[in-house]
Amino acid sequence: MNFCSLASGSSGNCQYIETKESRFLIDAGQTGKKIENLLGEIQVDPKSLDGILVTHEHFDHTSAVGVLARRYGLKVFANENTWLAMEKTVKKIPKSQQVVFETGKDLEYKDLKIETIPLFHDCVQGTGFILQDKDTKIAMLTDTGWVSTSMLEKMAHADLYYIEANHDEDLLRTGPYSFALKQRIASNRGHLSNHHAASILEKLLQKKKEHVLLGHLSTDNNDPLLAVRTIREDLARTNIHEGLDFTMEVAKPCEPSRIYLGKDQG
Ligand SMILES: [Zn+2]
Ligand SMILES: [Zn+2]
Repeated sequence: MNFCSLASGSSGNCQYIETKESRFLIDAGQTGKKIENLLGEIQVDPKSLDGILVTHEHFDHTSAVGVLARRYGLKVFANENTWLAMEKTVKKIPKSQQVVFETGKDLEYKDLKIETIPLFHDCVQGTGFILQDKDTKIAMLTDTGWVSTSMLEKMAHADLYYIEANHDEDLLRTGPYSFALKQRIASNRGHLSNHHAASILEKLLQKKKEHVLLGHLSTDNNDPLLAVRTIREDLARTNIHEGLDFTMEVAKPCEPSRIYLGKDQG
């Protein structure tokens, strides 16, 4: 399975995965044009996509879902509450392209197994996706303020963790946001901080050279170097060392990451 983050952060989120038999976007929270260009940069023709998996209705995840679905006849996968909540944003999508899933239940599409986990976030019903083909497993976790033991169990033993490092707790506290917004982001229905991401990775990493791709960084309340440093240091204190035990990179706001897990990438 190949994975690439095309856009990540509060200005828009879109990730791409492909197996031998299927190609999906996870969220489409940029303009349609931008996503087409980003796919072009990694030589993927949007016509070759099978569908879009939707995590939740927030605009930074759904702004181009409708446009792309109609333009390329893509299937759109979302749970029932999300379908209702994103109706205004995605507008009319033909019934034949709508797939309704139940968060918590597994899905299958050709050679791709999709596990869905409930997120703790200020949306109607968020979904995290764990994607597997016969060789590889990718766990994606953003837009959640809390992670339960059962979520960790499902995410375990992945080859790649695409995980949210939304904010630095001090920068958020002293930053420009209103008190209410700060409270919301830091709450258990908000976003994961750098320290919180580290504590989750501490439980997940098995020192098997897993890949960590940090995502959904706030431009106001975080900084890529700070996020990497905080998480590297937290993990080193628990004897898990970047480079030796795992690799770590940061997904850019609007630029393709490298292609993960492809055979040529090792
Ligand atoms: Zn988001
Ligand atoms: Zn959100």
